[in-house]
Amino acid sequence: MFRFLHPKRSAVTDAAWQAVRESLPIVATLAESDAGKLRALTDTFLRTKSLEGAGGFDLDEGSRVVVAAQACIPVLALGMEAYTGWRSIIVYPGGFVSRGTSVDETGVEHEWEEERSGESWFRGPVVLSWEDVAASGRLEGYNVVIHEMAHKLDMLNGDANGFPPLHAEMDGAAWYRVFSDAFEDLGARVDAGEETAIDEYAAEGPDEFFAVTSEYFFELPEVLDECYPQVYAELRAFYRQDPLGRIVAAGGR
Ligand SMILES: [Zn+2]
Repeated sequence: MFRFLHPKRSAVTDAAWQAVRESLPIVATLAESDAGKLRALTDTFLRTKSLEGAGGFDLDEGSRVVVAAQACIPVLALGMEAYTGWRSIIVYPGGFVSRGTSVDETGVEHEWEEERSGESWFRGPVVLSWEDVAASGRLEGYNVVIHEMAHKLDMLNGDANGFPPLHAEMDGAAWYRVFSDAFEDLGARVDAGEETAIDEYAAEGPDEFFAVTSEYFFELPEVLDECYPQVYAELRAFYRQDPLGRIVAAGGR
């Protein structure tokens, strides 16, 4: 099971960690104790998951740490067990074309293809575009790595549907109500042509709403808390983190 575990080798070198800690805002703004925890998790992540470049992309050591560190932010308080059941991350240089088939309501099968910045397969790999990874972590509300990891957490209890397995102390009915209300509110604003503070991609479906609000939770928590404070509170209980507090501690941005 731990074929990829090399206990004598540190997967994260000091130089690679320093680069991420200094230049990636989402890591740079962490308190020292959280950053230490994140480094340890990043190390475990790199030892237990397989990260590979594809489509001619050379995933060097620095890039591996950039991906792994951001992947570990959502599980900073949950631990690596939350990423059980899958092992592989594949990174393309840019957007990649995803193909599949779907059956419409009349039973006719259609082939589709679309360009994507990331995707997660149920119990399968996560696929990422490096171009989008490089645009993530700047505390601007966009993070393709966190987005796909949120889908992975959502898939722990079946297909992604915006309803991941909750902690025992959480109330499933409250989660459902809070997320449904916010999802409907965003959809109505998008339909009305309003410019929304949360990326309108979140209105695509409850699964995307959970993944996109997770990006905002870690990247722009003040924006999410302003728009949908109850969603922020549910995510705080789910991730067992309070990124707003981090900003307050840092004296605001
Ligand atoms: Zn998505």
